[in-house]
Amino acid sequence: MTAVIVTADRALAPSFADTSGPDRARGPTAVLAEGGAIIRVGDPDEVAADPRAAGARRIAWPGRAMVPGTVNTHNHSFQSLLRGIGDDLPFLVWRDQALYRYSPRLGADDMATAALFAFGEMLLHGVTTVCDFYYLNRQSNDNAQATIEAARRLGIRIVLARCFYDWTGAPEAYRETVPQAVAHFEALARRYHDRARFLVTVQPAPHSQHGASPAMIEAGAGCARDAGVPWHIHLAEEQYQVDQSLARFGARPLHAVAALPVDLSQMIAVHGCWFDAGERALLAERGGSLAYCPGSNMFLGDGVTDLVDLVARGVRVGLGTDGGCSNNRVSVFDEMRTAALLQKVHRTDGQAIDAETCFELGTGRGGDLLGLPVGRLAPG
Ligand SMILES: [Zn+2]
Repeated sequence: MTAVIVTADRALAPSFADTSGPDRARGPTAVLAEGGAIIRVGDPDEVAADPRAAGARRIAWPGRAMVPGTVNTHNHSFQSLLRGIGDDLPFLVWRDQALYRYSPRLGADDMATAALFAFGEMLLHGVTTVCDFYYLNRQSNDNAQATIEAARRLGIRIVLARCFYDWTGAPEAYRETVPQAVAHFEALARRYHDRARFLVTVQPAPHSQHGASPAMIEAGAGCARDAGVPWHIHLAEEQYQVDQSLARFGARPLHAVAALPVDLSQMIAVHGCWFDAGERALLAERGGSLAYCPGSNMFLGDGVTDLVDLVARGVRVGLGTDGGCSNNRVSVFDEMRTAALLQKVHRTDGQAIDAETCFELGTGRGGDLLGLPVGRLAPG
């Protein structure tokens, strides 16, 4: 198998001796990879002397810094075709005029086009792992498979978060019964799970409290438990969703979900803009995670997630761009910057959160959240 050595004048990497520590700025650094996987990171002379480096192809990046690929923990690739259609609208009008109007017209070929467009642009912005929260399933796996194949063609690592959706107010193309959703999830997971390189992973994603009934949420979380993978759910994005949860379940969003027989330690909540202190404490206590999408939250005027508090409580947080029609950008570097600026202005405190933390959320911690060994320049 061909080995390759990449050398750069600077790097952000954990200690060569103990890779469990934080990333640090380093001087000249070399990465030795074999079969596309990193097997050693270290000082250029030492790496070059490694017997496994004999005959390796050499790539030199003088005058540059080498950093890990970023991890986009929340996206909807099909929305790249709807970019610009939903600008400057309130949330529910955006949903009806952009999403609900166009999604019923899209088939598997359109999904492939949308995915090539979204993932190609992400790669140009340094995203090497994307979680695609996939709810336009049309009671089959054809669209999801077209999306996975597009990711494979481009060489981006994908987590296909296959949606569980049964709310009758949404387009029929989103909806399934509980047994249909379970059967489709299991078939897709069987077909694609790559436990060696994690290039394709399938995880369940009950859409939200409004998009999935309690039985559907329980089914999605059950599939996650059986497969030993995380599950994803949009929660408390807009204030009206908190009001709806209080009216329907007599509890705020996270408390209502926690009352179901589900494992919150495997849950990745998406957004959480309106989580109150009690919900943030519960998320930390149960070991739950958050996919934070500050660009999309600002675009739609959703609200401000208390990221600083969640990080202080030890909640695992990753960054996401969300879909193309609720952000118009797909760069995780952009989300690092947006996260920092939004938190600083919200707290009127220029030291609310630092660059190192935001960088980590967009790289290694995003990988931890998805259960993948990615987001750091380290062996494996
Ligand atoms: Zn979303």
